[in-house]
Amino acid sequence: SYRKGGYHAVRIGDPFSGGRYIAQRKLGWGQFSTVWLAYDTLSSSYVALKIQKSAQQFAQAALHEIEFLSAAADGDLQNTKCVVRLIDHFKHAGPNGQHLCMVLEFLGDSLLRLIRYNRYKGLKLDNVREICRCVLTGLDYLHRELGMIHSDLKPENILLCSTIDPGKDPVRSGLTPLLEKPEGNANGGGGSSTMNLIEKKLKRRAKRAVAKISERRVSMVGGEEASSKTEKSLDGIDMRCKVVDFGNACWADKQFAEEIQTRQYRAPEVILKSGYSFSVDMWSFGCTAFELVTGDMLFAPKEGNGYGEDEDHLALMMELLGKMPRKIAIGGARSKDYFDRHGDLKRIRRLKYWPLDRLLVDKYKLPEAEAKEFAEFLSPILEFAPEKRPTAQQCLEHPWMNVVSTQNNADNVESQMRNLHIKG
Ligand code: ADP
Ligand code: MG
Repeated sequence: SYRKGGYHAVRIGDPFSGGRYIAQRKLGWGQFSTVWLAYDTLSSSYVALKIQKSAQQFAQAALHEIEFLSAAADGDLQNTKCVVRLIDHFKHAGPNGQHLCMVLEFLGDSLLRLIRYNRYKGLKLDNVREICRCVLTGLDYLHRELGMIHSDLKPENILLCSTIDPGKDPVRSGLTPLLEKPEGNANGGGGSSTMNLIEKKLKRRAKRAVAKISERRVSMVGGEEASSKTEKSLDGIDMRCKVVDFGNACWADKQFAEEIQTRQYRAPEVILKSGYSFSVDMWSFGCTAFELVTGDMLFAPKEGNGYGEDEDHLALMMELLGKMPRKIAIGGARSKDYFDRHGDLKRIRRLKYWPLDRLLVDKYKLPEAEAKEFAEFLSPILEFAPEKRPTAQQCLEHPWMNVVSTQNNADNVESQMRNLHIKG
């Protein structure tokens, strides 16, 4: 993909936007882009630089994403709505063409990485609650205030505001700037020979600084799962997070695509092509919340002997949630492909019903009471009828979201005791 129309090859120390941003290390990539940690010499802080592939359709997609990110930033001046902030954008000319670049606030690991790091065992309910609060805050903002549907919510597209191993990551702790601000005005254009000099200087410095950093970065998570010998603890990690990746976002009243969402997080009305709205994000949110609690995807459909992935997906949904109401089952433009006129699947006839609360207890070993409470929160979100699903705002008010954890109680009692002790 590193050819004409494709990714832009980046080397550590490469300058962008007239020298304002200096590439530090790769953070991740997607179908359309690579994302780099960069140092912003203007604000003396780190940013994430998303560099789009250069071909026309990718540039178009980037402009689309910029439109939605700008709208989200404009309505959230305090930056409290749990949506990644767009700081800047510009074009960068490289050997493979013109690349649109987005400068985003620098965030930490994705929830997918958090789940992996925790060896797919699922997170503590208190942590899940905190994550859910952020995601719901973001969705409530997008839906109610902006009229925007994210359309690709999933653990990969939700990033923590901190890294998993905070104390050990000098970049995150902010103690070690990789680069000082370059002398002179790197933004000021100037003759090309001056630019070259500055660039060379910057690159040399960046290399030195990065070398120093990698010596010290003893235990960055680095994408591997925690080894089975060392039990890694998530204690003390701030579970605040933000929604990212607006490449597939749309306005509720101006939709572009029929097929939206990543397979496992796709709502039934999208599969059946019955029309969709904000509630598709709520479905994906439900799937994500389940995955955080259990470490397993809620629905992982596969095509089988004589049936396709879509039909398997619908079967999995009905095995968990019960039979789809006939009206909904036969109401979509694609219904006839999967359902007969009674609302039974055409090719998958025998379903094994395993309801959510039992699944949580029997398979995932949640205590009965916790399973019951969580299932009561989740079940309405996984309603087949989209209009019956609660809104993000309603979810935020749900009792499960507002449980005072026993751990917090214990902490409070302890701190009260300490206060008493000090006073005494
Ligand atoms: P795509 O649209 O190509 O999927 P994303 O916006 O999802 O691109 O970004 C791809 C990956 O880059 C993410 O999964 C994440 O690992 C990393 N990333 C994206 N944005 C940031 C950010 N603001 N801070 C840190 N890492 C990021
Ligand atoms: Mg993505």
